[in-house]
Amino acid sequence: MSTRSKEWRSSGKRIGFVPTMGFLHDGHMSLVRRAVEDCDIAVVSIFVNPAQFGKGEDFEKYPRDLTGDANKIKGAGGHYIFAPKAGDLYPPFYYTYVNVETITDKLCGLSRPGHFRGVATIVAKLFNIVKPNKAYFGQKDYQQLLVIKKMVEDLNMDVEVVGMPTIREADGLAMSSRNSYLSHSEREQAVCLFNSLQLANKLLAQGEIAAENIKKEIHRLIASRKDARIDYISLCHPHSLEELTSIDGEVLAALAVFIGKTRLIDNMLLSKSTPQ
Ligand code: AMP
Repeated sequence: MSTRSKEWRSSGKRIGFVPTMGFLHDGHMSLVRRAVEDCDIAVVSIFVNPAQFGKGEDFEKYPRDLTGDANKIKGAGGHYIFAPKAGDLYPPFYYTYVNVETITDKLCGLSRPGHFRGVATIVAKLFNIVKPNKAYFGQKDYQQLLVIKKMVEDLNMDVEVVGMPTIREADGLAMSSRNSYLSHSEREQAVCLFNSLQLANKLLAQGEIAAENIKKEIHRLIASRKDARIDYISLCHPHSLEELTSIDGEVLAALAVFIGKTRLIDNMLLSKSTPQ
């Protein structure tokens, strides 16, 4: 991969890069299509990164379908798939990790300790191997996007990070490889994440500014779904991720909810004037 990338770069080709864990859906493919449009070469990595999974999480059972993924990438005009083995990226005596501070202590960082250390490390390694001019990340994983942007800025990495909008199913559920874990009844209940964000938007538009009141209403909505268990509900500053008590400008509404055993996340950037 690295040799190819050097050749492309030295012949003046612009490399667009989409890092993924595979089992691709239309959310991933929107990033791939954008990379194909923007750049001369679109590289997609498929790597289920053990370093970003905690003990007892779903690393072993994470869905995998390399053949199906390859067909989708080819169909979208992607040029190159990089699917390394875990042992190639983390050989014995591997000791180096990237730690972005402060913004990783919040939201998903609280319930998944070490997760963003794993994410920042693998993305830094992939950037060094793939040498992209541009890299594409989904706003669906808002905190991840923020962490990567900060890492690139703080470590003076020479890559442009592009954030892309969340792609949703017809009922509003954010597309995710983990949706494949849901039973029929869980799938129906899973739309409560999107509904919660819509509810927050509606309350803000009606003039509610107290974060506590908005969270209470979201709590009530989610508690009415029998298989849903809240991990966190956050109304926070879009850059610092500090919790807000009263909302007078832009706010990130973010939540993580277990539907049965499956942990789902979603978020929206909102302000009083966001259209409903
Ligand atoms: P993953 O395979 O879950 O690590 O995701 C790979 C990339 O696809 C990340 O940048 C995600 O934010 C992005 N992504 C995942 N789901 C969506 C979605 N529904 N809409 C847009 N981007 C997404």
